[in-house]
Amino acid sequence: MTSERNPTRRTLADGRQIFYFDDAGRTRDHTARDTRELPTLDHSSRMRYDVLTGEWITVASHRMTRTHLPSTAECPLCPTNETRTPTEIPDADYDVAVFENRFPSFASSPQDGAPGTGDGPGDRPALGHCEVMCFSSDHTASVAELPLERMRTIVGAWISRTEELSADPVVEQVFCFENRGEEIGVTLTHPHGQIYAYPYVTPRTRSMLTQADKHFERTGRSLLADVLASEREDGTRLIYDGDHWSAYVPIAARWPIEIHLAPHRDIPDLPSLNDEEREELAVVYQDLLRRVDRFYPGIDRVPYIAAWHQAPVRIDRPLSRLHLQLFSILRAPGKLKYLAGSESAMGAWVNDAIPEAVAARLRELK
Ligand SMILES: [Zn+2]
Repeated sequence: MTSERNPTRRTLADGRQIFYFDDAGRTRDHTARDTRELPTLDHSSRMRYDVLTGEWITVASHRMTRTHLPSTAECPLCPTNETRTPTEIPDADYDVAVFENRFPSFASSPQDGAPGTGDGPGDRPALGHCEVMCFSSDHTASVAELPLERMRTIVGAWISRTEELSADPVVEQVFCFENRGEEIGVTLTHPHGQIYAYPYVTPRTRSMLTQADKHFERTGRSLLADVLASEREDGTRLIYDGDHWSAYVPIAARWPIEIHLAPHRDIPDLPSLNDEEREELAVVYQDLLRRVDRFYPGIDRVPYIAAWHQAPVRIDRPLSRLHLQLFSILRAPGKLKYLAGSESAMGAWVNDAIPEAVAARLRELK
């Protein structure tokens, strides 16, 4: 019997771990074994420090050979059965399965003799974790349309993995996310998300912490809490205002569709959610995904990125506040927002969409 705090743990043929999270009331035995012959895992990722920007860049050349848009019959995230070649998931069926990525950007253990210029502070092994979370055994499912019970299991799995990965001393930040759609660069269409456990605090989080610190020094209050309060009071960009969560289009949205979902309580991360907050999250998360899917007439699956911003594991937790950033790069049917010269080279964003108009459209799509 599996539970959120205690998922069923198994080991894949090359030593990677897989965790099964079952829907409430379900009993699966998870006895199938991984019978594949797999090559030894590559742990040669390096991280290089860019002194010009103060940011880390991960170099993971082994990812060049990873699986790219396989046919349904070759999908490595479908369950394994007699009629097909074995996949990453040995079981014949599953609810939510999480496993260590075979082509990780970060290595779970150091590798001797990995290429690099040395172990100086600016060039070192990129230690951390990269996991894949399969949301359904149904190859064609989408998170927006999964049963609510499954969405609850997914929330529980995010919490469980965040807790366990945060306990690893090399990990500084845990990022749960979903890339949906080939336009985003997804290499597998099976419904799945990922978890990155970084060995450093990411650049966006660092800049948000700097802003939050300045705001706290000036006012003694939480920046994100103040933003949320002002969006709820103003209402122009508000999409959802529940008992424990509210969602709005940020005033300075960067993307054609962008939504921030924030809890009303000041909490740093997903494991800090109470039962009522978790329950409402499961409902509102799918509601927001459905609104995004309906945004453009004639398209029923809009490419999106759903990104959980959680507090760093070790530093500045009081300055951080949990929120979801849900956005799409699609600016019109068939037209993508590209990160061209201004955004890619200068980090200076230009958005064609007016946030208030996007919010009005998202509100009417209920
Ligand atoms: Zn599949």
